[in-house]
Amino acid sequence: MFVAHLPAGYLTASYLHRRFSQAGATLRLFIIASMFGAIAPDLDLFYFFLIDHRRTPHHLYWPHFPIVWIALVAASMAWFQWARRKRTVALSLIFCVSGVGHLLLDTIVGDIHWGAPFVYGPFSLFTVEAIYKPWWLNFFLHWSFGFELLLLGWAIWVSRRGGC
Ligand SMILES: [Zn+2]
Repeated sequence: MFVAHLPAGYLTASYLHRRFSQAGATLRLFIIASMFGAIAPDLDLFYFFLIDHRRTPHHLYWPHFPIVWIALVAASMAWFQWARRKRTVALSLIFCVSGVGHLLLDTIVGDIHWGAPFVYGPFSLFTVEAIYKPWWLNFFLHWSFGFELLLLGWAIWVSRRGGC
């Protein structure tokens, strides 16, 4: 995924904010937390380029392990149930939910190791054939990029309407 993560985070927050409005987080803060969560797994790219020097595919780093984000969602949900002040917890929860969303989107054409760290085996719903050079052209000319643009357009449409 190249352009869909931030719009997906925006849409996730826009559609879930009403459900968490009692928690006290403003829509703006809720959206910021969600959009940050939607790109948070890819922060491992800094490690990939600057420290690991591209030796290990970044989908093999723990920020791209679904179990990490699912556990964080579960912990946030438990915290949400018991917390008296729910504003920060709601922000944590939407951040983590969007982290899971990131991995779901990555799974469309990216290789995500859903069993990691217990079982390693990449899984993606569809394969992007290596036809063109440079490599990224294969992704931009694949139908899944149209899906990414659809999410972007949807987010712009919701934004222009002033929310959900
Ligand atoms: Zn990713």
